[in-house]
Amino acid sequence: MRIVKNGDVHVSAPIGMLKSEVERFINEHRDWIEKARQRTCERQKQRALFYSQLPLQTRTQADEALQRLKALIEPLVEKHAREMGVKPQSITYKPMISRWGLCNVKTRTICFSAYLLLLPEWCIEHVVVHELCHLLEPSHNVRFHTLMDRYFPRWKEARKETRRICKC
Ligand SMILES: [Zn+2]
Repeated sequence: MRIVKNGDVHVSAPIGMLKSEVERFINEHRDWIEKARQRTCERQKQRALFYSQLPLQTRTQADEALQRLKALIEPLVEKHAREMGVKPQSITYKPMISRWGLCNVKTRTICFSAYLLLLPEWCIEHVVVHELCHLLEPSHNVRFHTLMDRYFPRWKEARKETRRICKC
């Protein structure tokens, strides 16, 4: 049983289980459902509040954010790409929520979330190194983490700090 984003409750049951048994199970867990729903709702509110700190509705807001992103991220990409011996094909920015960056290994294109502007610089740098690392290793495997240890030793700390700032 789980609570989905809109607050609905999804229940999985084995094939052949009687509807009455499923209903009984749901009834026995009413308290859990109520609490979980409240938690989901709280998280949604926190999330909306976090992202609303960077309004991107108007052209001016979006342009200004793009300028700031470029000024912050481009030097970091340049510095680390040189050190790591990688060369991304292009860098793009999108108002992505729930992920900070995306690396398309085939096209060697990296996309960064505009909301990185809401993070401290060292956390932004962590995301930059993380995405560049994908050009060397596509999966989050042991090799990937070894590369992160080498190129951004504080990656675990940065990840923790980022999760603390944005609990989304
Ligand atoms: Zn990754």
